Amino acid sequence: MSYFLAANVTLLTLMLFRASMRSERSFVLSQNVAMRTSQLAQSLAVANGEISKSSLQLEHLANSDTLTGLANRSVFNRRMELLFDRCRKGQTEVALLLIDLDKFKTVNDTRGHSAGDALLKAVANRLSAACGKNDLAVRLGGDEFALVLSGHDLDARVHRVVLDVMKRIAAPIFFGGHEIVPGASIGIAFAPRHATDGDDLYACADLALYQAKLEGRRQIRFFDAALKDRLDYERAVDRDLAAAIEAGGLEVHFQPQVDMLRDAATGFEALVRWWHPEIGAISPPDIVKAAAKLQMSEQLTGFVADRACRFARILDAEGHGDLTVSINMSPSEFGAYDPARLLSGIAARHEVNPGRIEVEITEDAILDPRKVERALAALRGAGFGIAVDDFGMGHSSLAHLISLKIDRLKIDRHFVTNISANVHNQALVGALVSVGRALDMDLVLEGVETAADAETLRALGCYTGQGWLFGKAMAPADAVEWLKRHATKVRAVA
Ligand code: C2E
Ligand code: CA
Ligand code: CA
Repeated sequence: MSYFLAANVTLLTLMLFRASMRSERSFVLSQNVAMRTSQLAQSLAVANGEISKSSLQLEHLANSDTLTGLANRSVFNRRMELLFDRCRKGQTEVALLLIDLDKFKTVNDTRGHSAGDALLKAVANRLSAACGKNDLAVRLGGDEFALVLSGHDLDARVHRVVLDVMKRIAAPIFFGGHEIVPGASIGIAFAPRHATDGDDLYACADLALYQAKLEGRRQIRFFDAALKDRLDYERAVDRDLAAAIEAGGLEVHFQPQVDMLRDAATGFEALVRWWHPEIGAISPPDIVKAAAKLQMSEQLTGFVADRACRFARILDAEGHGDLTVSINMSPSEFGAYDPARLLSGIAARHEVNPGRIEVEITEDAILDPRKVERALAALRGAGFGIAVDDFGMGHSSLAHLISLKIDRLKIDRHFVTNISANVHNQALVGALVSVGRALDMDLVLEGVETAADAETLRALGCYTGQGWLFGKAMAPADAVEWLKRHATKVRAVA
């Protein structure tokens, strides 16, 4: 019996021991779970905090300019929308000041990018300091800043603010032991006086800024009626250019180039012309500028090249197969499409030998030869001639001219018109004649307006001239008539 009891007690003890072991294990387990859960909850809370912090940072990043900490373009756009909602209801006026630093590029180039950054930060701080609590200072990009002011009777306040901004910006900053004296140009426009939406107001202020820049450094320009006319003009040009190219509203006229020794034509320059039905004559540089802005340079040059080739065929038919036709190309076109392919296609379609077509590029196009090298080599490879236009106005180096294998230099009319009375220009053109000879490049003298100038040029050894003395740019039929009259004259002289 006592054995039986002892065995029972042992068994019971064992069972109790096992049960306690089990419950301890499950206790430890549950404690573990509880601990892990609370850890998880804690780390979740931390993660949450991190997320909301980074979303705040993201929002800050999305709304502010990283370098200067000013509001950025997207804040600017939202603010403009908001203000124009109220402006349309007559609840507020809006003034936009566009501010562009003078010579910022020079600071970047000569003092380095960190100096440029320091300058931008300083200007940003100064703009913020000039702001009232409801105004907005923005960095729109690069060295372009804006101030947006709103409220009633803004004129007086804007005048005060703009003078204050000018003064603050002009204070020197010190960087790397050097003093930098910043300056800015400012363009200003008001709504509802000048514009009915944000884009409109921006365009007005931008045009005023452009005008301020033209007038020199540190200028302030308010948008006004004259600028409004200019804006309407630019808009009409932008709006109607595509249709004019397609529907033949554009024309190409041809100005003779003349061998001044024999008084005989050597070729023509193709110059675009547009008579707008409402505005009248549009200046060629405005056409070219609008085409570039609308990404239609290829269409414009294609159109001019097409007319130039047609004209070359007319010259053939008139027995002048030896005369060249030049077309103009602007620097921006070289990056935008493949000029050699475009021109080759057009010349082939008209069965015109590319050797009769010359491409005139302005001097600034060859300032960076790496950019144009390939396009020019392709044009040369396809057989087209190459001339540098407006030579003397830029700073192209002789080395570039040689490496790019230029055929002709067109001396800018600035040095040519009235040369008979200007000894400085005589010395300069005389030197250019020597350069041309040394580099084996022909010269064309633009802007020959008087017989006295032609005489002086001949004495200096210049033989090819272009200018009103010989003829203005003419419609193809008139150019053919001109040739006939001229041929008779040459024969009479001979
Ligand atoms: P540019 O290539 O230097 O063309 C010469 C400009 O001088 C022409 O003005 C011409 O009419 C003018 N001119 C010619 N002879 C005389 C003269 O004796 N005295 C004076 N004072 N001026 C003279 P235009 O036609 O107004 O063209 C201005 C500029 O527009 C051209 O300058 C050229 O850069 C650009 N351009 C004209 N047509 C085209 C074109 O089809 N494509 C491109 N990309 N640019 C063009
Ligand atoms: Ca030209
Ligand atoms: Ca020229």
